[in-house]
Amino acid sequence: MKYVSTRGQAPSLDFEGVTLAGLASDGGLYVPERWPTFTKAEIAAMAGLPYAELAAKIMQPFVGDCIAPERLLELTREAYGRFSHAAVTPLVQLDERQWLLELFHGPTLAFKDVALQLLGLLFEEFLSKRDDHLTIVGATSGDTGSAAIDAVAGRAKVDIFMLHPHGRVSDVQRRQMTTVLAPNVHNIAIDGSFDDAQAMVKRMFNDGAMTSRFGIAAVNSINWARLMAQVVYYFAAALQLGAPERRVAFSVPTGNFGDVFAGYVAAQMGLPIERLIVATNINDILHRALSTGDYSAGTVTPTAAPSMDIQVSSNFERLLYDAGGRDGAAILAQMKQFESAKAMQLTNAQREASAALFTSARADAAEMAKAMRWAYESCAEVLDPHTAIGLHAARVAEGLAADVPVVTLATAHPAKFGDAVERATGVRPGLPSRVGDLFEREEAYTRLPGDYDTIAAWIAERATPRVR
Ligand SMILES: *Cc1c(COP(=O)(O)O)cnc(C)c1O
Repeated sequence: MKYVSTRGQAPSLDFEGVTLAGLASDGGLYVPERWPTFTKAEIAAMAGLPYAELAAKIMQPFVGDCIAPERLLELTREAYGRFSHAAVTPLVQLDERQWLLELFHGPTLAFKDVALQLLGLLFEEFLSKRDDHLTIVGATSGDTGSAAIDAVAGRAKVDIFMLHPHGRVSDVQRRQMTTVLAPNVHNIAIDGSFDDAQAMVKRMFNDGAMTSRFGIAAVNSINWARLMAQVVYYFAAALQLGAPERRVAFSVPTGNFGDVFAGYVAAQMGLPIERLIVATNINDILHRALSTGDYSAGTVTPTAAPSMDIQVSSNFERLLYDAGGRDGAAILAQMKQFESAKAMQLTNAQREASAALFTSARADAAEMAKAMRWAYESCAEVLDPHTAIGLHAARVAEGLAADVPVVTLATAHPAKFGDAVERATGVRPGLPSRVGDLFEREEAYTRLPGDYDTIAAWIAERATPRVR
């Protein structure tokens, strides 16, 4: 399988190449040159497979010749063996129509673990074959950071530098990053928002002085391997609910558009998805873009769902590219326009192709709290704020046939956001025992101004230069 850049100018790469890369050299994102597909019979035959086997089957066409099938299965077994639930991503029924897909049973209690536990193993797999060193630079709105750090802490040949917006992640989120004291882990709190941190990281991937000295890789969802791993649970959930005979809808709490784009990929591969509901909080650029075609960034307002406090959704570019007819030159022009004006219009082709699969909804603080209370009072389920926004969007979705189940992706464990959950429901969710002593552990991080040159210099002083 070959991968091409959404901006059409960068060389195509194989799976190993895109896994170890950051942005494409033209500033675009890598996508497979075509979508692999499964027939209805092939999908039906996947029903009942253990999660790790299903994962290896669905990912193999994306991995191509880079990893042999038996080895890929070993890697998925190792990655998903670290989850605390035997089903890995269990499905929970709320009422006749509404379901929750619990994606938070990994080591750091958010869905990011599903992809990052595997990505950590993929890095090790590819680096062990080459005598090279990798410098991971990432920006986190809270959950990517801890999941990536857990996946690579203490591993040879990898350093990780993780930027988070100072004071804008929850205490549990921050401590899950800053209490990992392995020498290859570097936490940086920057003065600014997540979008500022993400812009800094993107600038570093485009900075020739940094990329020629260090082998810089991405753990954000600009990394294709992450999205690939997330395609799997759409299949897992739909198969349990009767796919491929029955169509299923998904509601996805959305920030960087990575998770819901994985659902789009599942649909391109042949999974009968009725609808993908993009749920946003009041930082609603995606809701505006999908409902009116206006993709214009406002300022970020901090909310109780910090992993969705985003105004620039990197992976939306992948959708615009695919839905708009895969014209790299046109995307290059459109994204340049967005980068300079912070605003652009979707083309008619992009709008029509998106509308065929996506709808969107936005939830404010009161709607989020109401969804959390409904789940608690009617179904005895305690939800985190992100999941509650997804459930709100699932419950207000219109135009779905009566027999279509709606699966809300439960993206984080409620204990990660204990204060917000307690405010809405009166219940304080307990931290699972495997992370129970988080508040007793020592923290280490460095606070830096939101200034690119300062941050690049700080990283350059501490990173290990590449071998070749
Ligand atoms: C990262 C995250 C999201 C947003 O996912 P994207 O792939 O960035 O759209 C939603 N909820 C939680 C809890 C997250 O950690």
